[in-house]
Amino acid sequence: MSLKIYIDGKLYDKEDAKVSVYDHGLLYGDGVFEGIRSYAGKVFRMAEHLERLWDSAKVIWLKIPLSKPAMAKAIEDTLAVNGIQDGYIRVVVTRGVGSLGLDPNHCSHPQVIIIADKIALYPPELYEQGLEIVTVSVMRNHPAALSARIKSLNYLNNILAKIEGIQAGCVEALMLNHKGEVAECTGDNIFLVRQGRLLTPPNDASILEGITRDAVIGLAGELGIEVREIALTKHDVYIADECFLTGTAAEVVPVVKVDSRVIGDGTPGPMTRRLMTRFHELTRS
Ligand code: PMP
Repeated sequence: MSLKIYIDGKLYDKEDAKVSVYDHGLLYGDGVFEGIRSYAGKVFRMAEHLERLWDSAKVIWLKIPLSKPAMAKAIEDTLAVNGIQDGYIRVVVTRGVGSLGLDPNHCSHPQVIIIADKIALYPPELYEQGLEIVTVSVMRNHPAALSARIKSLNYLNNILAKIEGIQAGCVEALMLNHKGEVAECTGDNIFLVRQGRLLTPPNDASILEGITRDAVIGLAGELGIEVREIALTKHDVYIADECFLTGTAAEVVPVVKVDSRVIGDGTPGPMTRRLMTRFHELTRS
């Protein structure tokens, strides 16, 4: 059976789920999106995802043509109609169909698209052995040009970094901000462990305010682990005892090598493992 995709209030078979070539989401990357997980049929952190989506939309003067409860229901219905229990949901709101010029005032109305699909995970061995990542030359967009806090359809900054990472043989790539500080990876936030404390770049370091990041900070608090949101440099990464990434798709994934420096003893460390276990319990119980 073909997947059913929600577009603008209606469900379409995947093959027929199409948007106009005049949609400014396609023409200019003008729109916002969310990547959300469901576990055992329940959407993880629905309220937080909707809040981030609405915040992103507000900043780009995009009015989402649904209320938050109606969007939540549309997401749940799309999951249910596709019979998906453990899945990945992509919510996209484009500026809609307009003219060939930039002016969004010529766009008819925003398009809401909801795709509920199976999740493509990193292979299990990466969670056991840990990832190798590299710092890439593409820096995060300057915040005065485009805030990393907007989860916009314009992901070229991240894609260019991802390509550099792949060319270096890595599935993720570490990006620095315009100040040369550690920001985040192309689709994941970064954490370090140093002397028993958890360190992660703050929200003003040109990062997306990750919902998994937030969940992990909460879990660390429950476990009595001190968390510091502070500016970090590559130096801090190289001398860290442990390193891991967080993201909706990746969940919590250990990093054992950065720029060919071995992190800690080269295996996923104890605090990383503890948080991976707790995150698993949080999402699967
Ligand atoms: N940073 C970037 C650039 C992202 O695109 C994402 C989401 N894939 C994240 C971090 C992680 O955010 P979340 O935990 O909300 O998925």
